[in-house]
Amino acid sequence: MPTPPERLDRAIAMTERLIAFDTTSRNSNLALIEDVKSYLGDLGIAARLTYDDDGGKANLWCTIGPEERGGIVLSGHTDVVPVDGQEWTTDPFSMVRKDGRLYGRGTCDMKAFVAIALSLAPEMAAAKLNVPIHFAFSYDEEVGCIGVQRIVDDVVANLPLPRAVIVGEPTEMKLIGGNKGTRIYRTRVTGVPGHSSDPRHGANAVTAAARMISFIEDLGDEIAAKPLQDSPFDPPYTTLTVGVIEGGTAHNIIPEFCDITWGMRVVPDDDADVYEQRIRDYCTTALEPKLKAVAPHTGFEHHKLVDSVGLRPDHESAAETLVRQLTGLNRSSVVSFGTEAGTFQRAGMPAVIFGPGSIDQAHKADEFIAIDQISQCVDFMVDLIEWAKTAE
Ligand SMILES: [Zn+2]
Repeated sequence: MPTPPERLDRAIAMTERLIAFDTTSRNSNLALIEDVKSYLGDLGIAARLTYDDDGGKANLWCTIGPEERGGIVLSGHTDVVPVDGQEWTTDPFSMVRKDGRLYGRGTCDMKAFVAIALSLAPEMAAAKLNVPIHFAFSYDEEVGCIGVQRIVDDVVANLPLPRAVIVGEPTEMKLIGGNKGTRIYRTRVTGVPGHSSDPRHGANAVTAAARMISFIEDLGDEIAAKPLQDSPFDPPYTTLTVGVIEGGTAHNIIPEFCDITWGMRVVPDDDADVYEQRIRDYCTTALEPKLKAVAPHTGFEHHKLVDSVGLRPDHESAAETLVRQLTGLNRSSVVSFGTEAGTFQRAGMPAVIFGPGSIDQAHKADEFIAIDQISQCVDFMVDLIEWAKTAE
């Protein structure tokens, strides 16, 4: 049985190993996944991979302990956000240990959690677990929680349903039971170009887009005027935002195109489809007739880029009960950032968010995680192993 300092050293060494793979979401994560797969293989743990459409990225799933029953999932994403344009004082893909912290891209978000789980895999494999522990390591979380859906689909179709999921996003080891969902859309408005001296022959895509944007703003105000009672979320309603607008080429040309990127942060029990439909209907009935009167090919095209479901707080869930029991923590709270937890919950797997590090350091230059946070998470997973040996 390793001592606590040995366990911590192993977790830090594994973090360093994972940080060295540049798994920025635009890149393949296969080198990392293959490395993890062979590490697990040496422990006699079989990994199950699910791939994206062109085979350039993969999720990894494995079960440690009895295969015939569902257990506790430790879930983390393997991709990281880009370092482009950020001023780092160290090499982001070479972990640096300094002042009680580990620096590197993905240290807190969220390779340390994945590394801690992996560093304890030998102990999990050696223990006679009664309830299995599963690892679920995904690709493309940072670009809209895309990869995890394939893990969930595979588990639901082929494996016993796990009883609880712990998503180890950085919560400073606090128990988080909910997060809002995220939807992102891009809308292209097509008009008819012309000389600005005679607008009658053109159809202005930018001004049509402006009316859609105003409608989104008004709808957001309408939703905000009816906040949900007793909601733990802040603000306690679904919000709408227009983030990017691009259109037009010169002051004397009627713009042919305008692209709008917009989105929603959705309170878990709210129906985002209703809002989407109202925006679509407004474009179709109030805005398109004027464009189409000039030329029938004009109009609005909406593309949904991201649809990441939120996590609905459930204080009685098996996931929350387990983490409370193992840690002595009180009831969960909620966070505003998106996670993969809701994707598990929607498929019937109770989930919480609980992991080391602070979201304050995520996505920034000189991202770091405090070693004390790693130590706390190691202790938690050791307790989880003990629990899984005897739990029914
Ligand atoms: Zn993350």
